[in-house]
Amino acid sequence: MAYYNVCPYCKACLDPGEKCDCREPAKKRMEYFENHLEEIRETGQIAFKWYTDGVDGMKKDKDI
Ligand SMILES: [Zn+2]
Repeated sequence: MAYYNVCPYCKACLDPGEKCDCREPAKKRMEYFENHLEEIRETGQIAFKWYTDGVDGMKKDKDI
């Protein structure tokens, strides 16, 4: 018996009535920044990981 729903996009198991947010652009942006920003522990500042290959994605985000 299934007590949960499965997201058709990411196959995640969802509680009944829960809406998966994997398709929401906002979450994708958050994941992007989590992947490309890092906190410098000594100063607490957030730094962009320029050495990654995400520069093109950053340009696209500015158009949103
Ligand atoms: Zn999903």
